[in-house]
Amino acid sequence: MRTFLVASLLLIALAATALAPSASAGQRQPGETLRDRVLVKLARESNVQNEGTTGPIGVAGFDQVAREVGATRIKPIFHRPPRGRRDPAAAAAIGLDRWVRVELGSDRADIDEIARKFRSLNSVEVAETDRVIAPAVVPNDPDYSGSQWDLQSTRTNAEGAWDVGTDSSEYVIFVIDTGVELAHTDVDGNLWSNPGEIAGNSVDDDLNGFVDDVNGYNFLNDDADVNDGYGHGIHVNGTIGAEGNNSLQVAGINWTCKLAQGRIFDASGYGTWDAAAGATTYAADNGAIATNNSWGDTAQGPQAYVDAMTYADDVDVLQVAAAGNQGDTAQFWPAAYPEMMSVAATDSADNLAWFSTHGDWIDMAAPGDGIWNLYLGNGTASLSGTSMASPHVCGAGALLRSVNPQLSNDEARITLRLNSDDLGTAGFDNDFGFGRLDIRKAIDAARGISLSTQSVVRPGTVDVTIDAPGEANMFHYVVCGLSGIDPGLDLTVLDPNDFRFFPINYDFFFDFQLQVPNNAYTPGFFDYLDAAGHDVVTFHSRKGNLLKNKRVWVAWCSSDPNIPDNVRFISAPLHFDVQ
Ligand code: CA
Repeated sequence: MRTFLVASLLLIALAATALAPSASAGQRQPGETLRDRVLVKLARESNVQNEGTTGPIGVAGFDQVAREVGATRIKPIFHRPPRGRRDPAAAAAIGLDRWVRVELGSDRADIDEIARKFRSLNSVEVAETDRVIAPAVVPNDPDYSGSQWDLQSTRTNAEGAWDVGTDSSEYVIFVIDTGVELAHTDVDGNLWSNPGEIAGNSVDDDLNGFVDDVNGYNFLNDDADVNDGYGHGIHVNGTIGAEGNNSLQVAGINWTCKLAQGRIFDASGYGTWDAAAGATTYAADNGAIATNNSWGDTAQGPQAYVDAMTYADDVDVLQVAAAGNQGDTAQFWPAAYPEMMSVAATDSADNLAWFSTHGDWIDMAAPGDGIWNLYLGNGTASLSGTSMASPHVCGAGALLRSVNPQLSNDEARITLRLNSDDLGTAGFDNDFGFGRLDIRKAIDAARGISLSTQSVVRPGTVDVTIDAPGEANMFHYVVCGLSGIDPGLDLTVLDPNDFRFFPINYDFFFDFQLQVPNNAYTPGFFDYLDAAGHDVVTFHSRKGNLLKNKRVWVAWCSSDPNIPDNVRFISAPLHFDVQ
């Protein structure tokens, strides 16, 4: 049964490669509607029989309309991994496998009418057109001189972070972009090599649904060619993970890491939302801890992309995107989706870069003007754009999650935000969001403050020891929450207008609370560290052993106990592991 399934999918993949239409590179403009295809999500009860062909696919109504409009091929948007998805239940709930691309073979003036015909069917849930996307780089000639001002201690302080840790080699970062120059000697050692896949044998060796995807996959042409012919992805890859300390050219934020490619643009910079959707799902299913998305559109993406992004979020991928180069406050997509960490660009004087889109929907800012990094021809160049800012945050996020693997996507995002350098108006503002990336500060937080919980005093009670030698006599606040469900400190509802507001999910604490010295119970615990930066607090469960799978956070607050919400630093969570 399994052999048959693999063989039939392989045939589909081979047929798809042979029939792939050549994109009209150079003729398409960013934001333009693609008139040669319709993206269709079949209704939940539909049972596709024969996808990957010109039809019929065995779905009532759909086959007739496909015939009427002259469909040349019907193809799943998301390859189906024979080995299964990272989270099959989430994929099924979202309906990834119900998406097909109806290809029409040529541009149609009546594309909206064609989409409407599909939409009118009971067997169809969504039918929509696709649009052209563009890399978020400012179109200037690359400047072949410069230095890495962006990583110096007065800016993002990657130099300081490297004192702490530079090894992210266990974690895969997916760069959704124009590809990478595979032979570039300053990054080739940090490229992901898909374990189990054999290059060039035309077989999907690892059964992930993709043939010969050794370094990634090309979602525009549906093949394994991820070599950058445009000169954008190579630069972005270099910012995240150029080989560090190797005496060559530049240093990435991660000196050792695994950079995988989801190529969604051709050599002219032409790309599509549906290619981006495929790359996003691929990243999610192939072990991504983070994706970088230095591209976009001034209009929202199609639902197929939103489904893919939702799936990646469900499997806990940190998704980071460029805020755009329109220079105004209009939302740019995908950056403006809540699931995306949105990054504006600063210049070398810590001002908002002249081109950077910004507004109340961005997360934070990072250097993006005159960024010197890797370029085509085994070279280096200076490029500008929020395209250059986003990979700083993506790289830092991956580094955080490698320093502390217990950090969830949301926790990494909040840690980056709260430990940034506040620029402009105090607190959150529309230019810099929560502030400009400070990698060292974020890494210090991600490492935690040496919290330890090994002292089980009696069943249902545990002592948490806090050691923060640099924070002598600091007033602190300790909270605890359920791992993977809902932190007692609800990180997802921080007030974007005042990031120092520190909401507590009181509902959680009905059965699990902190025991304070007078035997009262409280959802949070205020105390001072001693002169050595040391303290011990006792967590107590009132309902048996509820300490298992809990998390605890420590936050440094204002030195004024009367302003408990004035948090200036938050630790990464510590997981209890009390049996
Ligand atoms: Ca494969």
